[in-house]
Amino acid sequence: MSAMRDVERQRFIDALRALLGASHVVDEPGALTAPARDWRGRYQGAPLALARPADTGQVAEVVQLCATHRVGIVPQGGNTGLCGGATPDASGTQLLLSLQRMQRIRSLSAADGVIVAEAGCVLHDVQQAAAAQGLLFPLSLASEGSATLGGVLSTNAGGTAVLRYGNARALCLGLEVVTAQGEVWHGLSSLRKDNTGYDLRDLFIGAEGTLGVVTAASMQLFAQPAAQRTALATLPDVSAAVELLQRARAALGAALTGFELMSAHSVQLVRAHFPQLPLPLSLRAPWCVLLELSDSEGDAHAQQRLEDVLGAALEQGGVDDVAVASSLAQAQALWSLREHIPLAQAVEGLNIKHDIAVPISRMAAFVEGTAELIAAALPGARLVVFGHLGDGNLHYNVQAPLGADAAGFLARHGEACNRIVHDAVAACGGSFSAEHGIGQLKVDELLRYKDPAALQMMRAVKAALDPQGLFNPGKVLGAR
Ligand code: ZN
Repeated sequence: MSAMRDVERQRFIDALRALLGASHVVDEPGALTAPARDWRGRYQGAPLALARPADTGQVAEVVQLCATHRVGIVPQGGNTGLCGGATPDASGTQLLLSLQRMQRIRSLSAADGVIVAEAGCVLHDVQQAAAAQGLLFPLSLASEGSATLGGVLSTNAGGTAVLRYGNARALCLGLEVVTAQGEVWHGLSSLRKDNTGYDLRDLFIGAEGTLGVVTAASMQLFAQPAAQRTALATLPDVSAAVELLQRARAALGAALTGFELMSAHSVQLVRAHFPQLPLPLSLRAPWCVLLELSDSEGDAHAQQRLEDVLGAALEQGGVDDVAVASSLAQAQALWSLREHIPLAQAVEGLNIKHDIAVPISRMAAFVEGTAELIAAALPGARLVVFGHLGDGNLHYNVQAPLGADAAGFLARHGEACNRIVHDAVAACGGSFSAEHGIGQLKVDELLRYKDPAALQMMRAVKAALDPQGLFNPGKVLGAR
């Protein structure tokens, strides 16, 4: 989009204020700094203004106004994305469109097992609305107190329950979307089955706001488990963790709802920065696994099933040590260790983050081989490896050597480090972005690693649905 003349800019802001009310259009630069900075503090944008529509009709009107004035639109929910997808550029020409006022739960049907909620609903509130009816909304991630439904769908977020319930895409039955023409697609289906042509829903999920604005969604609900049990096991290497995963899957089936891998170093980092968090095992082994079992019978049954699986693994020598939480508080303490890893990393300083997926069968070879390559190229660099082993998805992060300048390390070695990790991922048939998306951070990686035929189809879809290039300019596919 070209730079606007002052008079045209003022005309646009005035029209926006007439549409939404003066208090819901912000254009003082001081008030725009925070919403125009991404969660990790890597990008600082400078939008033309921030608009906060109250409902879908207003979103459609804002889109029409932007189309007339040729103003790019950057949709934003809770602003917790990790790739800068919801951060405008610094040109002062893009409108930041916050969906945060759109927080209504429109309906909840236990018979259909469906909740229909607006894009600005905070994930935790959707979970609570389901729980109030005795149902489970399973999408769960560290930022669920701020992340919004529209944001997790637009990034196809994963989290810690994907193993059993799938990611945001798998949970979504229908969408309401404002298109680039300013029309509303009323696609809030409650159906499990609907084979009536192209699946438009799946185009908008994971599109990071580049094809349209998601304004509401119908999402699947599940029965609440009668009991949950959590355990921590320590292991000698990643292949032992993969073996334990197979054993647990075979014995527990769909009752296995969490299987998170953490390097001992990740947990030590948490212990260093959050010493109040209890740790029930000594960390002599280099890896640990957090298992969660959800049971439809009850506490005693759940405890027995988990102890059986882990007892057999201990006996056969695949596991060094095991602690099963015997209360909800202990289970929460174990999950706390896992959830504090990103926080401990942030305290430790900037690091080079990778969000990768590889086939589980190749995970052990990937982790060992890549550690050797990094040790050779970046002596002293510390690996902070953790994530959703049950989904074949790891957060493979590289922290500066002890005492080194973290920002300098990132600037000097970020590119070389990405090449080592992402080339290794590609060689395994994996993905360089498993659950965080592309945003602006990984545009170059997409152009480098994505199949050329796939890229061509993605560009064709973008051109067909958003011919003016209104929606989230520069994100995902980069500048046109
Ligand atoms: Zn994750």
